[in-house]
Amino acid sequence: MLAGVKTTCPYCGVGCGVIATPNPDGTVDIEGDKDHPSNYGRLCSKGSALGETVDLDGRLLYPEVHGKRASWDTALDLVASKFNEAIRDHGPDSVAFYVSGQILTEDYYLANKLMKGFIGSGNIDTNSRLCMASSVAGHRRAFGTDTVPGTYSDLESADVIVLVGSNLLWCHPVIYQRIAAAKKERPQMRVVLIDPRRTKTGDLADLHLPVRPDGDATIFLGLLKWLVDHELTVPAWIEEHTNGFDKALANASEWTVERVALATGVAAHDLRLFYQMWSQNERVVTCYSQGVNQSSVGTDKVNAIINCHLATARIGREGMGPFSLTGQPNAMGGRETGGLANMLAAHMDLENATHRERVAEYWNAPNLTEKPGYKAVDMFDAVADGRIKALWVMATNPVVSMPNADAVEAAIADCPFVIVSDVMAETDTVRHAHVKLPSLGWGEKDGTVTNSERRVSRQRQFLPAPGEATADWWQMAEVGRRMGFEADFTYRSNAEVFSEYAKLTALENDDERDLDLGAVSDLSKSDYDAIVPFQWPQAECFDPSKETRFFANGRFYTPDRKARFVPVVAPESVVEEHGIFRLNTGRVRDHWHTMTRTAKSLRLNAHMAEPYCEMNPADAARLKINAADLVTVSAKKTSITVRALLSPDQMPGTVFVPMHWNDQYASSARVDALVEANCDPVSGQPALKGSSAVVTRSAMACHGFVLSREVPNTEGLDYWAIAKAKSGWRLEFALLQEPPDAHRVLSRLVDADENALSASDKYRGFWRAASFDGENLEAAAYLSRGPVEVSRSWAAEQLVTPFSSPKSRWRVLAGRPAADMPDKGAIVCSCMSVGVNEIANAVRGGCHSVDAIGKATKAGTNCGSCKSEITEIIDANRLIAAE
Ligand code: SF4
Repeated sequence: MLAGVKTTCPYCGVGCGVIATPNPDGTVDIEGDKDHPSNYGRLCSKGSALGETVDLDGRLLYPEVHGKRASWDTALDLVASKFNEAIRDHGPDSVAFYVSGQILTEDYYLANKLMKGFIGSGNIDTNSRLCMASSVAGHRRAFGTDTVPGTYSDLESADVIVLVGSNLLWCHPVIYQRIAAAKKERPQMRVVLIDPRRTKTGDLADLHLPVRPDGDATIFLGLLKWLVDHELTVPAWIEEHTNGFDKALANASEWTVERVALATGVAAHDLRLFYQMWSQNERVVTCYSQGVNQSSVGTDKVNAIINCHLATARIGREGMGPFSLTGQPNAMGGRETGGLANMLAAHMDLENATHRERVAEYWNAPNLTEKPGYKAVDMFDAVADGRIKALWVMATNPVVSMPNADAVEAAIADCPFVIVSDVMAETDTVRHAHVKLPSLGWGEKDGTVTNSERRVSRQRQFLPAPGEATADWWQMAEVGRRMGFEADFTYRSNAEVFSEYAKLTALENDDERDLDLGAVSDLSKSDYDAIVPFQWPQAECFDPSKETRFFANGRFYTPDRKARFVPVVAPESVVEEHGIFRLNTGRVRDHWHTMTRTAKSLRLNAHMAEPYCEMNPADAARLKINAADLVTVSAKKTSITVRALLSPDQMPGTVFVPMHWNDQYASSARVDALVEANCDPVSGQPALKGSSAVVTRSAMACHGFVLSREVPNTEGLDYWAIAKAKSGWRLEFALLQEPPDAHRVLSRLVDADENALSASDKYRGFWRAASFDGENLEAAAYLSRGPVEVSRSWAAEQLVTPFSSPKSRWRVLAGRPAADMPDKGAIVCSCMSVGVNEIANAVRGGCHSVDAIGKATKAGTNCGSCKSEITEIIDANRLIAAE
């Protein structure tokens, strides 16, 4: 066995340390790094399954120009000449980069240097704009700089943790695990969840405030008033270290508990409990995530939270402070290096002439831009109306993830010149590229990332570069050189790029700026390769063991070094009415972004194999929608078709649809095509959780399920969703019309020969067929008038089950295991492949705790992401047993 390599998980902003061990057979073993201070060995289901995502299936391995393989020289020369041509004819603002929180700090640094310093435009923005731009804007308004004051350990030492708009269990699972472990040790710790949905994270909460969408700012206005009314602020600290308190308070003064209750839908009694909990415990951490950021009033929400922490001086000390949780692995690296269109680099400001001069001189930049560029939504508007002539997209899939996604797709398709750097050969965005550049994937690339607690870690290469794939920073440097900036983009290694960036953070800093990497700015390549995770700032003496916090000393990064209260106006918090739902979008437990990686993993597909619309059962009953029906979700003259999932945890009048599904895995499930591009006016972040939609039952005549060794043919199907299964694929589908010859449909789907087994009953409305090659099942297809009743977890095993006897083959047509064989049911624990039926059986056998279930079934014993689902199953089955 080869040696394990210490690297960092490429998914969420928790930034867990991973040890990856490549095996001679090409597989990779993954374990959590016990020495990494962000996770201490823990991983979630996504991190645990990383080894299943590193194969070369579907990879883009060679540069392509106009759909044909080309040499790197040809491709890069063309990119450089097209950019130069556009700049010559239309000016520097006619070109743009749209990059990603997936790229490394070194990639980000060079992309920003090339665009802002040498091309002379601010037109570089990132998909992090969709994720945490409102937190950045809120931080800068309050602190004068984009600073996350605390550390993860504060979450363990806090007495009260408030989670606002954050489904921590699914979106930042290892932070959830750390809080859950701390709460187990100190049961007096209190957790409050403020969210319109009672997400799975609610299981950790002592109190859930089911606030109407966008009502969270009002709750914190009410808290500010409560703190003042109960004389719980710290006037001397406010006086000495802040500005603007009176104005902020004036805006809060009308928000009595009763008024907050009326405006937000939260019971006055629960609000009082929350306000008491918050004010009576000094150690309070308020965590917030996309429910706060992805809103047209996101920046105000951030400042409403920060105002309460400033009013009580609860910031920068152990166990207290506001805490923004970033979505992506290197969203923070992008913020640090100037990946946002309105930032410069190294936490310097575009609007500050001294900062511009300093950076221009340091870079020897001929052309440093003086103004911000287009933020993401504006950028694609500029592509659409022809202002942008050449666009370079790097490591992201805006055709799926941007609001107004269909219009974004049309804009990219019509753009005169589009370059996409990606690891995958076929994504909804790559297909529109004139030039495709193959990038290194996780496991192949090498550099640094920064997580939500300002901890810089190395992503290290442990796999060889496949085909002709190259590092993103190298691609940027090469294009810079070929555009005529040879002397300024002559990097020989990622370490050189990092060193240049780190030196810039320290340049004329002297605590003028929060971000200072001076102590790691002169590393040799081998020191850079060996560096251990550390939190910034590291100004002089490098000490990776030290925890760093900001603002306990009352010194901020505004011109007068005082923090700023921001007067926040309470937004209207509404649930849609008259049959129009408030549409919320977000993540599921086991998928990441647009599924280009997680869809490769069998384990991760097992939890949610289809796109869905979660809605309250009362709303569903009114619309005559049953569980597992297909529904059409419509807005903006477009629609998607997804499965109905009924849950009392969904607030009536609201629906939730996951953001992940794309055109490769479903017929029509790109939910962001329905989302309006309404942006927060300060941050430019779109309100991805704040649009409207109509939901109706899809009147399908037939539903189907296929299990197949080959990729099933989806042509002619009115609805389909496909996912990997063991040794093959599984397909859910539906038809608007009952076919005159159902057997013909089945034969086409399963490529059945005349020896295929089949069964049908037109009267009862089912048709089934299965074909075998020797002892092996080749394919099975099931068609029925209602949702197909076949055990999916059992079916998933059948492509790897030998069928030696004719009798056993008929079992395939039955669609369920024999009476003497267990049916594990829908998979709950994807790490250990444990299904709902197995857990329910264990409950009935006397296991009444998550630990006991773990001992009996192994469910929940690896990453623990499924523990709240196990709790629900225990509760449900204990009740049944008691009846
Ligand atoms: Fe990766 Fe999960 Fe850790 Fe996030 S919580 S970094 S997805 S292992």
